[in-house]
Amino acid sequence: MDQLERTCCGHVGRNDEGREIRLQGWVDARRDHGDLLFIHMRDWTGIVQVVFQETGSDRMFETARHLREEYCISVVGRVVSRQAGTENPSLATGDVEVTAASLTILNTSRHLPFQLSEKAMTAGASISTPANVAEDLRLQYRYLDLRRPSMQDNLKKRHRMIKKARSILDDHGFIEIETPNLTRSTPEGARDYIVPSRVHESAFYALPQSPQLFKQLLMVSGMERYYQVARCFRDEDLRPNRQPEFTQLDIEAAFIDESFICELIEEVIAAMFDETGITLARPFPKITYAEAMASTGSDRPDLRFGLRFIHATDIFSDTAYSIFKQILKRGGHIIGINVKGQSDELSKNVLQNEYAKQIVPGFGGKGMTWMRVADGRLDSNIVQFFSKAEQAAVMERFGCEEGDVLMIVADPSYELTTGVLGQLRLHVANRLGLIPEDAWHPVWVTDFPLFDPLEEGGVTSTHHPFTAPDRTDFDPKNVSELLQLKSRAYDIVINGEEVGGGSIRIDNFKVQEKIFAALGLSREEVTEKFGFFLKALEFGAPPHGGIAIGIDRLVSMALGTASIRDVIAFPKNRSAFCPLTKAPSVVSREQLDELGLLNFGMAEKIAQTEEKNIIDTLSWVSRIGIDEQERPVMAEAVEKARNLAERVLARPCEAAPMYSVIALENRTRPGKTPVTHPAAANGGLLANAPETRGDFFKVANIIE
Ligand code: ASP
Repeated sequence: MDQLERTCCGHVGRNDEGREIRLQGWVDARRDHGDLLFIHMRDWTGIVQVVFQETGSDRMFETARHLREEYCISVVGRVVSRQAGTENPSLATGDVEVTAASLTILNTSRHLPFQLSEKAMTAGASISTPANVAEDLRLQYRYLDLRRPSMQDNLKKRHRMIKKARSILDDHGFIEIETPNLTRSTPEGARDYIVPSRVHESAFYALPQSPQLFKQLLMVSGMERYYQVARCFRDEDLRPNRQPEFTQLDIEAAFIDESFICELIEEVIAAMFDETGITLARPFPKITYAEAMASTGSDRPDLRFGLRFIHATDIFSDTAYSIFKQILKRGGHIIGINVKGQSDELSKNVLQNEYAKQIVPGFGGKGMTWMRVADGRLDSNIVQFFSKAEQAAVMERFGCEEGDVLMIVADPSYELTTGVLGQLRLHVANRLGLIPEDAWHPVWVTDFPLFDPLEEGGVTSTHHPFTAPDRTDFDPKNVSELLQLKSRAYDIVINGEEVGGGSIRIDNFKVQEKIFAALGLSREEVTEKFGFFLKALEFGAPPHGGIAIGIDRLVSMALGTASIRDVIAFPKNRSAFCPLTKAPSVVSREQLDELGLLNFGMAEKIAQTEEKNIIDTLSWVSRIGIDEQERPVMAEAVEKARNLAERVLARPCEAAPMYSVIALENRTRPGKTPVTHPAAANGGLLANAPETRGDFFKVANIIE
């Protein structure tokens, strides 16, 4: 019987009726009916019901009675059809069961910290799912959490989506190449995780924020089509859906342009979604950064619903309404949205007391103007201040109809006006349920500014400093000119979430130098940080570009999981901590010492190292073990000896020394010129010494 091949639980079906099979897996749930015992047996293919029947003096039944959830077991039994009416439609195998003939408990399990079973044993019965189990507890027992079929399903689908991406890239001639994890800093706008080197004391590796520089170097190498499922590390501020390490599908190709990358990525992403049963319409639309900001106030526009911005600044150019007048005097903007037919949901009270007084100020706005359309007219607390012409123009511009609600933000700053209204747009859409659940709206965002202004003056890269600008004849010192430049970058956004981004790169070292200069990096800094990379660009770099797709986010989105942690086997929690391994953790003083991290003052460090070497050598030569407490005393003695030697050297005394260790005078044969044996020079003198260090050899023993 033991020779019977294993059948997987989820594969058992009517075709197996009458067959004797062997199952191996876990007890998912059990139901004890006295002389009948049912268990749901689970492996990673599914669940099948196994029945144990008491047949008199039966040892197997006795063993079965001891089964508990998550015992790991092996069962041999016969497949039978379930009696009519006892099928379990929630199981794929629900119309059969296995009558057990033998049972082996492979391993017992401790009492579970939370329930794992996701399937009721009888049709229609409710089960408690771990939805309300604290996430840290799930992460602490992740190996149990991952036994849950829904979690296994997430990881399997993730695998299939990545496999699909690999296969498409392979079809297009891309090859997967690994790049180092112990490397130098790669700027992507976050802080680095750094790794101390034991071998190179006081020097550090950085974990890659992305393989950006290596993939570009691969293009210089002529490896024309590269991809990698790459782990990236970014020490960023904590956010709910962020992980300190995450996975990117990283891609780069030579002799290509933007349209090549867009078409390729659309094929890859559409195929990945297709694995989960979602069809994405292609080609994906494109929107410029400026259009996205002007219509949604976001560079990650959520296009699943309307509420597009309506610009009304010009309508009020001669207004008597003092708030608008003041704002327009300062070059301001008046922009709004029309929430169609929602005046029943958005009462005056909600608009005034919630939105105008609390929600919009919470978004950083100074206030909000609202109007409702009732009886064919605009109605609000401020309409009285608008002229007839202004009211008519608003009605027309906003396409007003009965029951519409206008929400308007006005501010001297364009960024603030659009930013606040963008948040308001999302808030209203969520509150009123205007976002269709299963709509998919991918969009490319293009024509980004190359630089963003820094508060303290100067500029920073909107993407990263290797992104090609739209023109190269700029003055790197002219900040206002720099802020006009556009980049050849593109982001892919789906349903308001950025899932990837990339660009055509700078392939000319002079242009790259200009960008570094614009970023305010000195020549020395550039050489120190990126010298190796600039040098590579001087060796005939090809035009090239690429992109990286955030795998965790994309998979989580396609599977509709509550968080990206649900599609990562061993994620960190929201505080970047691993409750399972308790990482990050404190390390021992010895480890820190070994890594040279106890003391960062280099001078002190070097002095200590030298002293340590002298004492170690003394200890070794004299065969005296010197322990930690004796070191300071020894160090003092060495210091005294050194001082004495220096004094002697500084003022040579008249009297001949009694002893010398070098050939000053032949003391055994006075009057004869001391000679050093020729073998001393070539090391032959110490050739037979059992152990040597420099010019010393180890003596046999010292009797103190
Ligand atoms: N390295 C970039 C990132 O990680 C992507 C790219 O430009 O290819 O966002």
